[in-house]
Amino acid sequence: MSRKKGNSSLGILVVFGLIIAGAIYLYTSEMFERDTPEITLKNNGYWNLKKPLNIEISDLSGIKSYRITMKTKSDEKSLAYEEFLTPNSTINTEIKPPRSAYVMKDKKIKIIVEAIDASKWNFLSGNRIVKEFEFIIDKKRPQLSSVSHSYKITKGGSALIILKAKDDNLDTLYIETNFKKRFKLQPFYKDGYYIALVAWPIIEKNFKATMIAIDKAGNKSKSYIPFYLKDKAYRVSNIKLSDRFLKGKIADLAEDFVETQGITDSLEQFVIINEDVRAKNEELIHQITSKVSDEMISDFNPNKMYPLKNAQVVASFGDHRKYSYDGTRISESYHLGLDLASNAMASIKPQNSGDIVYSDYNGLYGNMPIIDHGLGLYTLYGHCSSVNVNRGDFVNAKSDIANTGKSGYAMGDHLHFGVLVQGVEVRPQEWMDKTWIKLNITKIIKSAKKIIDRD
Ligand SMILES: [Zn+2]
Repeated sequence: MSRKKGNSSLGILVVFGLIIAGAIYLYTSEMFERDTPEITLKNNGYWNLKKPLNIEISDLSGIKSYRITMKTKSDEKSLAYEEFLTPNSTINTEIKPPRSAYVMKDKKIKIIVEAIDASKWNFLSGNRIVKEFEFIIDKKRPQLSSVSHSYKITKGGSALIILKAKDDNLDTLYIETNFKKRFKLQPFYKDGYYIALVAWPIIEKNFKATMIAIDKAGNKSKSYIPFYLKDKAYRVSNIKLSDRFLKGKIADLAEDFVETQGITDSLEQFVIINEDVRAKNEELIHQITSKVSDEMISDFNPNKMYPLKNAQVVASFGDHRKYSYDGTRISESYHLGLDLASNAMASIKPQNSGDIVYSDYNGLYGNMPIIDHGLGLYTLYGHCSSVNVNRGDFVNAKSDIANTGKSGYAMGDHLHFGVLVQGVEVRPQEWMDKTWIKLNITKIIKSAKKIIDRD
């Protein structure tokens, strides 16, 4: 009797154990998972009814079915329904708007995504989720037009553009060029107006500027800005490298730079300095001078630049320097500033105020302060013997910021004066010319303000 009783209690225990094991199996098996499907919409909350909505639905046990509905104030329309015999773990679907959407008056709609997974949970009916996404319907392209701009641009030079861009949901605005550069715009004078200096890099054969405005729904406006293009030939200099120069200045510089450590061949040192070190130094300059403020600017009226009194031009902007040794061409570079010389260690006094955004040693450029004058316009002072300002300082016009010298890649005491527009080196001569500034900058701003005031 007692043995029998023992047997049956053992049986109960086994059955009980099996039930628990079964429950654990059900509880942990993918077949019975309890997570609802995940739904992601790859679009933002704006829809222009042109681009499809990209919806991704995923689930561990697979998707059994999904339904996508568009809900307006007065209407509900099914956009998609699918049921799968073999469940997919991830579904990517593109939803196009229904025809009725193009004529609807609603500015806001809801997209409702319902998905059921292939889990056996919930008495085999699976896990269900309903997710709502709100969209603002925006079919209108941004309003975009030129208000005023410089009449011409010279190769290597600068120009100004003022434009009007209006949209309820404006997202991006920039000036596209035929080269890779995109010029940023700064809010100007009144709401909906923008201003930018642009530049034609000396190495580009052509210049083409197009304003682009895109709203949050992806509507895009594009308008070409017709500049009169003035080509300019820059000097090509063939420079023969002397042993004196290689063993002197180049050997000295090679000791300083990381890039030339362990290199003993003078010509190799020269090529690394003229190409690799120069590229690194210029990259730093471009990076520092590419920033443009987002704050509204009401005026821009720079004084003609002339940082060094009684100075002589000793090298021009844009010289294409081709270097050879023993009759063989070994390297080349562009001179991207204007070299000015007066007395040794002469005072450098810029004619325009601004923020010091860099004041340190920069390889070939030696000791080099950079001033931010606003609107993406920067000036740079290379080869200084000493610098009297620090990064973060604000300097008034005519402040004594530094002294000329021959630090970096310079043979004699001089100032390498650079002007940059949004990270592009431009002809300093334009900014040193009162008439050029008046015609191309201040007059354009004045006439734009008149037009804006009437608008
Ligand atoms: Zn120079």
